[in-house]
Amino acid sequence: VSQPVNVTVTGAAGQIGYALLFRIASGQLLGADTPVRLRLLEVPQAVKAAEGTAMELDDCAFPLLAGIDIHDDATAAFDGANVALLVGARPRAAGMERGDLLSANGGIFGPQGAAINAGAASDVRVLVVGNPANTNAWIAAQHAPDVPADRFTAMTRLDHNRALAQLAARTGSTLEDIRRVAIWGNHSATQYPDLTHATIGFRPALEVVDDEAWVRDTFIPTVAKRGAAIIEARGASSAASAANAAIDHVHTWVHGTPEGDWTSAGVVSDGSYGVPEGLVSSFPVTSSGGEWRIVPDLDVDDFSRERIDASVAELVEEREAVRSLGLV
Ligand code: NDP
Repeated sequence: VSQPVNVTVTGAAGQIGYALLFRIASGQLLGADTPVRLRLLEVPQAVKAAEGTAMELDDCAFPLLAGIDIHDDATAAFDGANVALLVGARPRAAGMERGDLLSANGGIFGPQGAAINAGAASDVRVLVVGNPANTNAWIAAQHAPDVPADRFTAMTRLDHNRALAQLAARTGSTLEDIRRVAIWGNHSATQYPDLTHATIGFRPALEVVDDEAWVRDTFIPTVAKRGAAIIEARGASSAASAANAAIDHVHTWVHGTPEGDWTSAGVVSDGSYGVPEGLVSSFPVTSSGGEWRIVPDLDVDDFSRERIDASVAELVEEREAVRSLGLV
């Protein structure tokens, strides 16, 4: 058995944290041979709740759980971190302006990026879940000049999984038959869930669906607005499915994508597909050897071009707003 991997989770006492920690400790994040040490970060007023969760983790007697530390200080929490899951964020409150939201999150993700820069392990891999996830990841990366920028990622795997589920339900196909669905742009209502390259059992998905209006007027808005639909139905925002997607994202990052398929993740743009270099945008990506690679040379039709550009424009605006607020 190998040395424990340090996994730092912020917002550990929140809803997503509660759905996430038990799965990490049971081995679903890194695999059944890899012991983990959990480092939980919370704001001071939520430390007691995090201690309660830690008691429950103890009570599961997970063989792979090598220990749990709880912190209210980012520098301590990220010290030696190999994997960092940045879940805690300032939620948008009623009447809050976008600038206020960005300011509040800049105040969280800037210092966390600096703490990662100061003390995380040299192989650190960061996934930002807390919203606005893409821009929060960008802010953190700006504060971590010594960490390769490609170690900072934002979660769009939940959007990707939602797209898979919608397509499977519509076509009556099994999930194993569906490949090459993609999410582009921002993890927000402007995201572009793209079926133009998708296949179902090696047939083009658009041919199987055979209904352009469904794709445009039902599939895309259903995926993009699924979060709001869950709040409406459940009376609380999605948490278990978000935690599941975080597990999927890191698992794929570490273990790779299957041959012939890809997934979606918010990664630092290298300028591909006209997405300005440096922005954290969702792309179709493959993973191997612990590194993401943007899928190259895809044809982008006019409709897709328009949708990608609109979502990327929102990311550019968020970046400009963060800059003008002096957050980076
Ligand atoms: P959740 O655990 O439900 O959500 C945490 C974050 O994940 C939110 O920003 C939320 O964004 C985001 N998120 C991303 N994708 C999804 C999705 N698909 N569904 C739902 N949420 C998604 O929030 P809680 O309020 O329950 O818990 C947050 C915890 O974070 C609290 O315990 C708080 O104390 C802590 N916190 C910790 C900080 C730190 O460690 N320094 C800093 C700030 C907060 P959205 O709001 O848009 O749904």
